[in-house]
Amino acid sequence: MRKETGTTVIRGGRLFDGTGAATVADAALVIDDGFVAYAGPEAAMPAQPQGARRIDVGGGTIMPGLIEAHFHATYFDVAALEDLDIKYPVEYVTLLAAANARLALQCGYTAARSGGSLFNIDVWLKKALENDLTPGPRLVASGREICGVGGLMDWNPDFRRIGMEGLVLLVNGPDEARAAVRKLVKDGVEWVKTYPTGDAAAPDVNDHHTLCMTLEEMRAVVATAHNHGLKVTGHCRATEGITNALKAGYDAIEHGTFIDDEGLDLLLARDVPCVPALYFEKVSVERGPEFGLSQRVIDGHQETLDGGAESARRILRAGGRLGMGGDYGFAWNPHGDYAKELSFFVDFVGLSPLEVLKCATKTGAEIMGRGHDLGTLQKGKLADVLLVDGDPTTDIRLLQDRSRFIAVIQGGVVKAGRMAAPAG
Ligand SMILES: [Zn+2]
Repeated sequence: MRKETGTTVIRGGRLFDGTGAATVADAALVIDDGFVAYAGPEAAMPAQPQGARRIDVGGGTIMPGLIEAHFHATYFDVAALEDLDIKYPVEYVTLLAAANARLALQCGYTAARSGGSLFNIDVWLKKALENDLTPGPRLVASGREICGVGGLMDWNPDFRRIGMEGLVLLVNGPDEARAAVRKLVKDGVEWVKTYPTGDAAAPDVNDHHTLCMTLEEMRAVVATAHNHGLKVTGHCRATEGITNALKAGYDAIEHGTFIDDEGLDLLLARDVPCVPALYFEKVSVERGPEFGLSQRVIDGHQETLDGGAESARRILRAGGRLGMGGDYGFAWNPHGDYAKELSFFVDFVGLSPLEVLKCATKTGAEIMGRGHDLGTLQKGKLADVLLVDGDPTTDIRLLQDRSRFIAVIQGGVVKAGRMAAPAG
């Protein structure tokens, strides 16, 4: 991804650097050749060259670009899960994914970790993003998602003889689990997404208390993935699914809905991050009737919402790490609404805005495996920056309003926001 050359001085407002430290008033951020050269009080800023570009945020906020830690570029705002696998061919889904990536960047998200992908689109979308063919967050790619036969993601009936060729690799036993990961290794993915458990969306045979993979299958996934340097995560709602994933050596937990004491101990012992992706449950309860979700499904989402909120609070209060991602890409939880997750964690879960913003920046970068060069505004890191008109550290809802973005910056280059050139 292209970096700006020369020096840019951003000043005239407060700094939230993403580390969790208190904001700095009257701050300045200096960007040199796309990297942060200085972030701190303007009064202590080293002298800068005469020709430096200058941006005044007019009393606003300088903060790291947001990081979506559970991003599905290829989920195209579907109203039914089934649509994900069979509605469109790879050609069209690829274009939809590119449009979703551009939208995420416009929404202030300068980086994202995929939570699973149709076909092998993420890997190639990432290449297009890195080569500036199309704009979007810096991406860590997942591939087709692994699930046990008959589990949550195995919804096409056998008599249709269409398999699950778009979204899922179905496995029966550790040998097939190994084979599925080996395919993903060849495909070039970085994260292996699995389904240890079911979900409220499938109340008949794969609800949120059901297991969809065995511990043996999960151990086989992890051993194969780690051998090739890939990381493993999983959709974990049921208590036993969470502990199985942690025992198997997972690198992250998605949802972590019904975590118990044993699970929490295992999570903390290896400092495994969890991405609750929880606003999805709330909006499923609120808007489900509009989209024809049955009362059983809605009741399940309510149970998941309450359990997930409690688990997220426990994890953070116990010193664990949470990433902010929202499973956007469903009709009632569409792309573009990403920052609703952040407000939700303040209003409904009870975190402070500063805690949520640290989760949405520093922790997100760590989950991506990019903690060394993304996620905070510290000297030497890539200058992925969000300039906001107002103070999201006291009113986090501002981040839902793109008209408040002065600039969305990647590697020092202004990509979106008021300062961006209109799209040609
Ligand atoms: Zn997801």
